Amino acid sequence: MDKNDIIEENKAVHLGHGKTNPWIGMTNSRFKILISSNLRKTHGMSVRSQFVNSVQRPYAGSGRFKLGVDCVDCNKHFGKSEKVTVIGKNGRKRTTAAYQVDHVYGIHPLKDLTEDLSQHVADMMYGELQVLCYHCHQDKSIKEVKEKKVNREANKAKEMLKQFNKNNELGLDF
Ligand SMILES: [Zn+2]
Repeated sequence: MDKNDIIEENKAVHLGHGKTNPWIGMTNSRFKILISSNLRKTHGMSVRSQFVNSVQRPYAGSGRFKLGVDCVDCNKHFGKSEKVTVIGKNGRKRTTAAYQVDHVYGIHPLKDLTEDLSQHVADMMYGELQVLCYHCHQDKSIKEVKEKKVNREANKAKEMLKQFNKNNELGLDF
């Protein structure tokens, strides 16, 4: 077995849903979440904080904040540490940051740890950033999910058409 065969074996990519990978002592998906949340934490301490420092300005609202930032979408102004109360998915109220630092072009998803990690890190650490308020960020996320779904369906349709044309060429009938 060569070096890469051993890596593939320890990665055990096709363990199945909810199965513990004995090499790491947890499921592969839990392991991925752990790694990406550590990366996010690192991003927050370094790149994110540098970015917020670079766009902040003296607070211009009615609250008691020294520094503030603006949402690039709706231009609303927020205190640097301002929180808002929102209604969560479960219908309950919760408090969250009034604005988020958004990756303009998104972050490559971490589907396969060793294959996707370098693009994931590149996007997260070096991708263009912007300030969006909670609601504008929500709107952007919803739009992105919808676009992904449309793309998936378009790809599926394209694949079906390809198969159909191939079957036609072979003279097969459905
Ligand atoms: Zn906004």
